[in-house]
Amino acid sequence: MASQVELALQGVITNEMIAAAKADFVTPEYVRDMVAEGKVVIPNNLGRASRSVGIGKGLRTKVNASIGTSTDIADIAMEIEKAKVAQACGADSLMELSVGGDIPRIRREILGAVELPVGTVPLYQAFAESIKKYGSPVDMPVEMLFDVIEEQCADGISFMAIHCGINRMTVERLRKQGYRYGGLVSKGGAYMVAWMLHNDRENPLFEQFDRVADILKKYDCVLSLGNGFRAGAIHDSSDRCQIQELVINCELAEEGRRMGCQMMVEGPGHIPIDEIEANIIIQKRMSNEAPFYVLGPITTDVAPGYDHITSAIGASLSSAYGADFICYVTPSEHLALPDVNDVKEGVMAARIAAHVGDMIKLKDRGLDREMSLARRGLDWKRQFELAITGDRPAEIRRSRMPENDDSCTMCGEFCATRIVTKYFEADIERGEKKLGAEAR
Ligand code: SF4
Repeated sequence: MASQVELALQGVITNEMIAAAKADFVTPEYVRDMVAEGKVVIPNNLGRASRSVGIGKGLRTKVNASIGTSTDIADIAMEIEKAKVAQACGADSLMELSVGGDIPRIRREILGAVELPVGTVPLYQAFAESIKKYGSPVDMPVEMLFDVIEEQCADGISFMAIHCGINRMTVERLRKQGYRYGGLVSKGGAYMVAWMLHNDRENPLFEQFDRVADILKKYDCVLSLGNGFRAGAIHDSSDRCQIQELVINCELAEEGRRMGCQMMVEGPGHIPIDEIEANIIIQKRMSNEAPFYVLGPITTDVAPGYDHITSAIGASLSSAYGADFICYVTPSEHLALPDVNDVKEGVMAARIAAHVGDMIKLKDRGLDREMSLARRGLDWKRQFELAITGDRPAEIRRSRMPENDDSCTMCGEFCATRIVTKYFEADIERGEKKLGAEAR
């Protein structure tokens, strides 16, 4: 079976393209053309039906929620609940990132529990199996990597973050710049570097990149080029090794696309807000606009417990500047394995950030205009319908109801909206048509 890229290049519009177009209010022809050019991907797997989600140029910024066990907490029931909550809260995809317990079983149960496209980082399972079998990740045989990638594709995974862009040059950059304030924080990246140094060998995922892309293409799975050298500290952002890896990943994105594989590039990381735009310009320019998947990004190191907010700030700016896909961050980032409530908070924060960014990137402000009118009209029912935040607004209002329904307990009798609307009623009516025409 051909991949989305190959079919798009033949002019074919697939069911996945039609569904992705419908969800984003664009035409299927537009999605096909963007897929053919490698500017849009649709995470997919020929062996598993999942929701078709378009990621890339001209489409809504999408949100990923990562779940998965750790070696300390490996509770499958909780991970399934987290997956379902993420889906119910509006996440566009899931990443199953378990490193503890029975990893294949957890993956298969998650795949059966949700309709979202599911992604993985196959290096996690490969290194975890190596520790079990050989006592150390650095003793992992090369073939184990490719076996795990194939196994996860066969299970139905729709996108994989694979650290192909780490090579001896990037490691040399790290050495020459005198390491880092925050070290390496990507699990896949750190383990791969340790493996390379211990074995004095090139990264097999870089050396045999064609083999990796071939496996993923066979299943129509998106190859997301992992950002193993992403900064885990503000003071390390945009350093030489991160940019070196980004350059390599952009080259590989082009190569993978030529092979007919759907390709995406991953980005930071921890980053101050004045470096976000530059990272996106560089990635888009060097990859010929491959979809850009940013991890957060987290915009300060000093707000643990609230990193869903530090990352929402970074995500909204990233989206506004052109990032296509954002990975949520939860309040427990840097502190503990997220629980169900953390997942909910993380998804909502990331979705709000994506919307804020899309208001700039896509000039998509119609929903906000509708909400303003509902607020001015003190129409609570309409406000709840328009909110992108689920049941929470109604719950808050119900918990502190005013005496009169035409205000809220924030100002009560001093409701500014009510007073002004009363005296400007005639002007409002006259101006309505004008506002309707102009306020887009
Ligand atoms: S009471 Fe205050 S906060 Fe509430 S609707 Fe009126 S103006 Fe807005």
